[in-house]
Amino acid sequence: MQPLTSRSKIVSDKEMTIKEKLYLPAILGGMWITLKHWFKKPATLRYPEVEREFAPVYRGQHVLKRDDQGRENCTACGLCAVACPAEAITMVAAERKKGEEHLYKEEKYAAVYEINMLRCIFCGLCEEACPKEAIFLTDRIVHTEYERETFIYGKDKLVEPIESSERIDVTKRQKHLTEKQ
Ligand code: SF4
Ligand code: SF4
Repeated sequence: MQPLTSRSKIVSDKEMTIKEKLYLPAILGGMWITLKHWFKKPATLRYPEVEREFAPVYRGQHVLKRDDQGRENCTACGLCAVACPAEAITMVAAERKKGEEHLYKEEKYAAVYEINMLRCIFCGLCEEACPKEAIFLTDRIVHTEYERETFIYGKDKLVEPIESSERIDVTKRQKHLTEKQ
């Protein structure tokens, strides 16, 4: 019968040779293969002690950016939510009151801004749709949790810290987005 692939082997019940009966050459051959792998560069990393460097285009957890003066960039226009194919973004807009100019850049801001990380497919369309450079995807990982509710990320998790030393660097994403245009 014609074999289906060139790798197929004909199995026969012929008598084993003395070498085959000893088994030792086959065992040593197997050990030699194992030994060779000891000196090869491993394909895996010892995570979490060692972390793999992400590509500049990696899309991880979102950040809501502040401007140089620490004011939230987001003006709750809703364009990111409209662009989101997974319908993962919800927000409630509010009007900036007198005395809140140091908190919010525009007259309107997002009083509530939530992303459902279980629905999000990290496509990046929200950052592309944003006219205010308010939302970016970063190289941070969305950590595993036990409860579904904990995957609803609100402003407490999304807005970057006000201290300039703790801001989230998005220059790699900004550069990538500019090059795409
Ligand atoms: S990355 Fe894509 S799926 Fe996730 S919130 Fe943004 S637009 Fe929606
Ligand atoms: S993140 Fe950008 S697109 Fe989304 S509501 Fe805020 S300003 Fe509009």
